[in-house]
Amino acid sequence: MHMNRIRRFGIVNAFLVREDDGLTLIDTTLPRSAKAILSAASALGAPIVRIALTHAHSDHVGSLDALAAALPGVEVLITERDARFLAGDTSLDAEEPQSRLRGGYPQVRTRPTGALVPGGRVGSLEVIAAPGHTPGHVAFLDTRDRTLYCGDAFSTLGGVATTAKVNPRFPLPAMATWDKPTEIATARALRALDPARLAPGHGPVVENPGGAMDAAIAKAS
Ligand SMILES: [Zn+2]
Repeated sequence: MHMNRIRRFGIVNAFLVREDDGLTLIDTTLPRSAKAILSAASALGAPIVRIALTHAHSDHVGSLDALAAALPGVEVLITERDARFLAGDTSLDAEEPQSRLRGGYPQVRTRPTGALVPGGRVGSLEVIAAPGHTPGHVAFLDTRDRTLYCGDAFSTLGGVATTAKVNPRFPLPAMATWDKPTEIATARALRALDPARLAPGHGPVVENPGGAMDAAIAKAS
């Protein structure tokens, strides 16, 4: 297993993914989580060499500035689209659905060192376009074991659900979704990858998630 989950306050995840050159941190959870994340990395005996962000919401980039300060030289990667939010630009492009942006998009001091491009790679992770929850959201597929780090495209807290439709047992992620039709199309595309396990931003890691993803998509469609 290449994956290590860091859970904050019972509801928010970050993941440390082991690579030959150190650890890739996927998302940074909420503010004031840097210490917990750094101690999880040191328990694994490897340095965090890069931070890859699924999207720009506050519960995913909350500890980015603190971690970037604590890890000089760390690579910081996000899509160009969601990087605009981090820089304080909350405009939508003319060709995008003009749905209302929801959830917190904080401005941060840290500047990305590079851009995530769907189809590209971050170590063993393939970058997968997953827009809908935010305009520039991505997922990561570990090509070694087909773990899908889906960010907020799916949540598994209170059962596997897309974030296109509010799950009454854990409504938070769906309440922050930007464009529902785009998010449903993404949920279908991620399901088609046939992941071996689903590692979301919120909730437990789910093994063999195909059937549950199908049911979640049917519920949201
Ligand atoms: Zn989110």
